[in-house]
Amino acid sequence: MGISTVWQTTHTICGSDRALVIDSPVTPCELAALRSRVAATDLIATHADWDHLLAPLAFPHATRFAHATTIQRLGRDHAAIAGELATWDASHRLRPRTMPDWCDAQTIFAPTTITSPVGPIEISPTPGHTRDGIALLATDDGVLVVGDYLSPCEIPSVSADAGWDDYLASLDQLDRLIARARCVVPGHGWPLDRARARTILTEDRNYIIGLAHGTRPRAPRHRADVSQQAQHRANLVAVRGR
Ligand SMILES: [Zn+2]
Repeated sequence: MGISTVWQTTHTICGSDRALVIDSPVTPCELAALRSRVAATDLIATHADWDHLLAPLAFPHATRFAHATTIQRLGRDHAAIAGELATWDASHRLRPRTMPDWCDAQTIFAPTTITSPVGPIEISPTPGHTRDGIALLATDDGVLVVGDYLSPCEIPSVSADAGWDDYLASLDQLDRLIARARCVVPGHGWPLDRARARTILTEDRNYIIGLAHGTRPRAPRHRADVSQQAQHRANLVAVRGR
């Protein structure tokens, strides 16, 4: 796997020749480094947040796969998502990049199991952080890729159009999958062993339940971090809007 210098966004490489890459690096240098190391033929995005969608810039001819809800969201919000990439590139004085089009990706209907260079991969739907979202368990290796859940460096973020109940149901599903994993790869941060993943899951579940019940819980971690304080305020605002 690899971790971007931007928000510690992760990507996971399955195989070497004819590899499957889950999610993506963010900067042009990171994408070029990945292309020099790996021959990817297949790409999967865990969800449609822009920093997870850039792998086709390194592998334009690879086959793209995305969950049906991700393709729906991209069909509706492609311009806004592309605008976020454009804004980020401009603010970092980078040559503007074109957001890859995932709308013609091969559609995944989860729950399902696909074949990969590292054996079967079980795919489960995990809405809550966003309305779309999938977790992928490589069953032979026991590696679980969870998208934007269980981050050791971020607190939960629940989108306005998803919901607390979806988020909690996805945490329950991840709890079951963690039991079969030896390594958990969050969308942001570093790989976790099962015990640490469970600790974060419990913290996040209690936090989400507190938000849903209006008890104004404290952020589960990184309370001194300005960006996480902003995310906590956004979560409090979001819960008032429901
Ligand atoms: Zn993310």
